[in-house]
Amino acid sequence: MSDPISLINGAITVITSIRNQFKKIDQTRFESIIAEMTRQLTEAQVEISALIQKNLDLEKENRKLLDDKEHPLVFDTKDGVYYGADDKDHSMPYCPHCYDADHLKIHLMSHEVCRHCRTSYKKMSDETKRWLSS
Ligand SMILES: [Zn+2]
Repeated sequence: MSDPISLINGAITVITSIRNQFKKIDQTRFESIIAEMTRQLTEAQVEISALIQKNLDLEKENRKLLDDKEHPLVFDTKDGVYYGADDKDHSMPYCPHCYDADHLKIHLMSHEVCRHCRTSYKKMSDETKRWLSS
């Protein structure tokens, strides 16, 4: 992957060359310079688009990591689900399949089947099942 700043600098150099030589340049050389400038700008556009997407992906990953740091989940072997580390009453279970596979925090709302991956959880404690059905 080329450095987009270098690509843009290359295009600017070409534009400067056109400006400096415009009056004395022949038609063939002029068309060659325009073609090179167009190629470099197109390449820069592709590279910048890739960097924008990469930045969005990194921002999303960073938000997840910050959320994990501020609100960590702890696996409960008795219930077979995750709970928030500060959720002492085990009032809000999270789907372990979604968390382990995709690092998604999916609440197991008022049922024992994950609304995201459809995994069924039958091993929850009676207390949690009562809470979910209330
Ligand atoms: Zn799930």
